[in-house]
Amino acid sequence: MTRQRSPDSNPLRVLVAGGGVAAIEAVLALHALAGDRVTLEMLAPGDDFVERPSSVLSPFSGESAPRVPLGRLAELGVTRRHGSLGVVHAERHEVWTTDGVRIGYDRLIVATGARSVEGVPGATTFRGPLSAGAVEGALRQARERVLFTLPAGAGWTLPLYELALLAAHEFPDGPELTVVTPEPRPLEIFGPVASDALARLLDRAGIGFEGETVAEAVVGGALSTRDGRLIGADAVIALARAQGPRIAGLPADADGFIEVDGHGRVSGTRDVFAAGDATAGPIKQGGLAAQQADAAAEAIAAEAGAQLTPRACRRVLRGVVFTGEAPLFLRRDLDDDSPLARPLRGAPVGISRSQLWWPSGKIGGRYLTAFLAAGGEPGATLSDRPRRPVLAHPPTEGPTMSSILIGVDASARSEDAIAFGRRLADASSAGVVVACAFAYSDAPSRASNASYRQILADDAKQTARDMRDRLEGIAADRLRITITPNPSPAHALHDIAEAEHAEIIVVGSSHTGRLGRVAPGSTGERLLHGAPCAIAIVPFGYRTRAEEPIRRIGVAYDGSDEADAAVAAAVELSRALDAELEIIGVLAPEAYSATALMGGLSSVTLREDIERSIQASLDTVVAGLPADVTGESVRLAGDPADELGEHSAGLDLMVAGSRGYGPLRSVLVGGVSGRLMRTVQCPMIVVPRGAHEPLGALFAAATATAA
Ligand SMILES: Cc1cc2nc3c(=O)[nH]c(=O)nc-3n(C[C@H](O)[C@H](O)[C@H](O)COP(=O)(O)OP(=O)(O)OC[C@H]3O[C@@H](n4cnc5c(N)ncnc54)[C@H](O)[C@@H]3O)c2cc1C
Repeated sequence: MTRQRSPDSNPLRVLVAGGGVAAIEAVLALHALAGDRVTLEMLAPGDDFVERPSSVLSPFSGESAPRVPLGRLAELGVTRRHGSLGVVHAERHEVWTTDGVRIGYDRLIVATGARSVEGVPGATTFRGPLSAGAVEGALRQARERVLFTLPAGAGWTLPLYELALLAAHEFPDGPELTVVTPEPRPLEIFGPVASDALARLLDRAGIGFEGETVAEAVVGGALSTRDGRLIGADAVIALARAQGPRIAGLPADADGFIEVDGHGRVSGTRDVFAAGDATAGPIKQGGLAAQQADAAAEAIAAEAGAQLTPRACRRVLRGVVFTGEAPLFLRRDLDDDSPLARPLRGAPVGISRSQLWWPSGKIGGRYLTAFLAAGGEPGATLSDRPRRPVLAHPPTEGPTMSSILIGVDASARSEDAIAFGRRLADASSAGVVVACAFAYSDAPSRASNASYRQILADDAKQTARDMRDRLEGIAADRLRITITPNPSPAHALHDIAEAEHAEIIVVGSSHTGRLGRVAPGSTGERLLHGAPCAIAIVPFGYRTRAEEPIRRIGVAYDGSDEADAAVAAAVELSRALDAELEIIGVLAPEAYSATALMGGLSSVTLREDIERSIQASLDTVVAGLPADVTGESVRLAGDPADELGEHSAGLDLMVAGSRGYGPLRSVLVGGVSGRLMRTVQCPMIVVPRGAHEPLGALFAAATATAA
């Protein structure tokens, strides 16, 4: 039961013991949920949070696992205490550190993790960052066969597969590699689909798999197993066994783990919570640790007077498998994974080569993942990526959560993107996300370099902040920045657009082409390959004329479904920006000359027929415009991309549909729009194929507010 305090009471003093996944998630969550209803103290022996999950790369890259200084939490008002939790006197609401210091508290969260102990005597034990050298040495010396194994009670088997896959990738002509595990199938915990995918990966990498086999010890060049076999090997790499922390004063199970309920409350102990590997349970995983921490934080926040109903921990496993190539993303809802429920909730399927949640991260913590992705800056929260609807979505009702995504880098073209993004933002009430990708791949490789990554991330953050600051005047609660590592800025923007439910991505264009034109091969052009929403390409130098009103919007119209989608988007823009439309058709010479050359109708007769037909279809579109939108038709003749490009000099905005083959609701290069991008002289918006109401959601909220 939740005991709420009165609003005037002093803040609740929360002491968090630990400096790992669960501890950081707990303080971030408490800060977000309870604000100044709590004071936060963190007791930990070290100064840094070490990203242990990334340590599987260290034996191959030579780089140590990334670290984030715990000092960054001071920005949230978290007081740091150096030391280790020794004894808990729950009845007195105090703890003693192993150094003999007494600390009082109102609520205590124990997040001291588990102890890693050797589980397969004689093997090279991989515990994380500090074991990298030993594992690298064992792998380099092995000639014939290396076994990757784990003891019963390892708690988390994923690193074993990563080590084997990375070793296969690193030493393609090296010794034979085999995984030996008690699991019946690879990574059984994630379910059969993920398990099959991993089995295929192992197979492709030439890695053997011995399931349902419990390793006992390494004796004289062989691994002995519980079923009495000896498997010969010249190196055996084993994961550690997790042992409970056995904190004096707290009840523990036989292995020293702390029993908790769904809200993280320690059984039979008042005002003490525990989260993470320190608690009892068969799976020791960072994501679950974070989820337990969230449940405890919610319970405490409610007790501190925050207006929320604390939820019990809901266990969702999220795993990223480093494979030596593109990582594999796995997700499984342990508490509700019925195949029927998944599509109905729109949750992603459980396995993918692209991210299933956002921001990406080895550890899926609601607050921690975003904190780590931003290099230690609190703010965003983790969200599962919704599956892209295959069918057109139903009309939007009421205010939406749509957003305008502005892709920036440190060049002047980003100022153009910002200037146009502001025009859209002013006309809508959508959120605005300023995104900066930095050229770094988190896929494991020899080139992995944590400090270099940090420098790039810091630069990207500064760039995103500088660009955001140019959006002065837009309410702060609508504005966010995000940074992401990706060697391809276009791919990064696609991913962010999906995660952020962006209705439109705005980018500047390269100035290597003629002033005001998009250069081939630029991010803008690459964005045309499969963007999940509309994209706007803004010509170089737009920032200098951004104050000019948008009065004329042109729509490239050729009678196709894609062109109809462009008209629909232009109608939304026309209403929101109070602009007039031009529905522009182009008569291309090949439409009449080819038939004439083949001995058909004379080109003059045919040309007149086609002109009439184009004019009729343009007139039909203009006649069908809603009463509150003014438009006229314009007929041009010549090469469509050249003509539209030339004509765009007199327009304030051009809208085009997207041709090309591929999934619905994607922007695809092809047809005129791809070439038009290079010739257009005003901002151009390309809308995705098959979208039901392109840009509808972007302006729906503003219209609703205005009404
Ligand atoms: C090689 C490897 C790979 C992994 N890969 C993944 C992965 O891909 N995804 C994933 O989700 N999980 C992964 N895990 C598991 C994940 O790292 C743990 O589940 C997670 O770190 C548990 O979080 P925690 O906060 O409970 O403990 P920890 O992160 O271990 O943190 C414990 C903290 O408590 C501090 N501490 C210890 N004793 C005391 C004390 N007496 N008083 C105060 N502080 C104390 C420690 O210094 C530390 O800061 C991996 C683990 C390993 C070893």
